[in-house]
Amino acid sequence: MSETPLSETPLSETPLSIRAEALDARDTEDGLGKLRDRFSLPPGLVYLDGNSLGALPAAVPGRVADVVAREWGELLIRSWDESGWWTAPERIGDRIAPLVGAAPGRIVVGDSTSVNLFKALVGAARLAAATTDGGRDELLVDATTFPTDGYIAASAARMTGLKVVPVEPAAVPAALGPRTAAVLLNHVDYRTGRLHDLPGLTAAIRAAGALSVWDLCHSAGALPVDLEEHGVDLAVGCTYKYLNGGPGSPAYLYVAGRHQAGFDSPLPGWNSHADPFAMTPGYVPADGARRGRVGTPDILSMLALEAALDVWEGVSVADVRRKSLALTDFFLECVEAYVPGGKVETVTPAAHAERGSQVSLRTENASAVMRELIARGVVGDFRAPDVLRFGFTPLYVGFADAERAARTLGHIYG
Ligand SMILES: *Cc1c(COP(=O)(O)O)cnc(C)c1O
Repeated sequence: MSETPLSETPLSETPLSIRAEALDARDTEDGLGKLRDRFSLPPGLVYLDGNSLGALPAAVPGRVADVVAREWGELLIRSWDESGWWTAPERIGDRIAPLVGAAPGRIVVGDSTSVNLFKALVGAARLAAATTDGGRDELLVDATTFPTDGYIAASAARMTGLKVVPVEPAAVPAALGPRTAAVLLNHVDYRTGRLHDLPGLTAAIRAAGALSVWDLCHSAGALPVDLEEHGVDLAVGCTYKYLNGGPGSPAYLYVAGRHQAGFDSPLPGWNSHADPFAMTPGYVPADGARRGRVGTPDILSMLALEAALDVWEGVSVADVRRKSLALTDFFLECVEAYVPGGKVETVTPAAHAERGSQVSLRTENASAVMRELIARGVVGDFRAPDVLRFGFTPLYVGFADAERAARTLGHIYG
């Protein structure tokens, strides 16, 4: 990225750029705009890829340096107690909880999303087998899912004797029945940016006597989730997208309070034992969120994430959602104004109720177009075969970024 020419040509004023400036000024005055200073972003770069890798919160490098030099270098093994390393997975889970509407004590942080999906799906299959009358042998899986979810679901189903039934999210209510054990859904479609109806689908799944497992990778930190309010059974999500935890930062697992005592993890490592330091041969699971742990947590990544979460202090998810919709609306308006007709097709739903925090545009030669955008200082990403993705992270993306991205895209076609 070092050779990317940033702001090499200042763009001239247009009615849209003047509006963008006014919107940003108001947002800095009384909205989320002031949070942009809490991130380290290269000057002049328009970064619309926070749905893949969130930007670096400015406080993280200092915190990581302290963890390495003092907590590891000087305190050494004492840090497991004295620096709070041992309790970090649940402590940080409780920091994520308000962002997804979870009660305290329900979320554990650790491992990747893929691994947590495995725990959640096998856990859901075992809960379904233990709590229902039997005969439930189907695992409905979002047919449009991010690939890892589908691969893991196939293996989890094979291990637990379930049959995978691929279903489009909107078709889930019609596919539910007395054979459904559990349903795995993505809250936001990673490719199109479509937001699925978590409250309605969760209610339908529950009414059918099945368990819901939601993947929140593209919604946590971008829009309200409200896990408790809607009665979600299990959920997973990653922290390196809208939560800005850093590359490969640990993911999280949510298990509803009513299921915690019955949750039977398929990866019962010693960290999830009721008394791990007794080092006994017999496994006794810990109570609560800690049951979702596996082995020794990845402390450096975990504590980088904890420092990254400080930017959320005092931030309301409702405000994030409001700004996210305003940004994607404005970006779509700018694309309409700047991009010659017929060059791009919007695949993200126009209806707010169906839109996540990204805009996906279908175009010819999408991969080459995205390379050119990046060369001109506008970073989004490309998803095969023909999609340009632009993620809008309300904590550090502004209206001028949206305007410049759309105008640059227009120049590429112009
Ligand atoms: C990003 C993403 C993942 C990532 O999984 P990892 O195990 O972190 O690689 C999984 N599911 C969805 C829906 C995602 O968007």
